[in-house]
Amino acid sequence: MLPVVALVGRPNVGKSTLFNALTRSRDALVADLPGVTRDRHYGVCHLVEQRPFVVVDTGGLSGVDEGLDALTAQQVRLAIDEAQALVFVLDARDGLLPQDRAILDELRRSGKPIIAAVNKTDGLDEQAALAEFAAFGIAATLPLSAAHNRGTDRLLAALQPLL
Ligand code: GDP
Ligand code: MG
Repeated sequence: MLPVVALVGRPNVGKSTLFNALTRSRDALVADLPGVTRDRHYGVCHLVEQRPFVVVDTGGLSGVDEGLDALTAQQVRLAIDEAQALVFVLDARDGLLPQDRAILDELRRSGKPIIAAVNKTDGLDEQAALAEFAAFGIAATLPLSAAHNRGTDRLLAALQPLL
């Protein structure tokens, strides 16, 4: 059995783009519309000299627990349950939102190791972008530009010891 890594976060932060970067596929549905990925979506990340692992792309955790969002939230919980490590994807352009805190509470309840990936740092000052998220107190908080495949090597390096 390969270890499992779940990508979680609000809709539209770039989870599916990261999934594509990690699995080098166009499998995950990437769209400008928030909340397009309703189901869990699996791919394998295998790179030379790295332990291969399964990546799970989840629909966004919106913090709203009703209707279709409740179904998505349930899928996210299942993905968290089966994962060895969680990548909490955040949006540097939006900054730290109350929904992010609600999601982090949920992730922490799982007791699983969390890496915060601050995405969309392209064109931004990385250190300034990270500083805002330091309030979360997540030791591994890394800058990322999933769309430009920048920061993925550091993310992979941080994940490896957790798998
Ligand atoms: P998801 O809802 O979390 O799966 O987010 P998506 O992967 O579908 O991306 C949402 C939007 O953000 C799309 O328009 C992406 O092109 C854009 N996006 C994703 N990653 C980046 C990035 O690194 N930089 C920028 N500028 N935009 C990004
Ligand atoms: Mg998506």
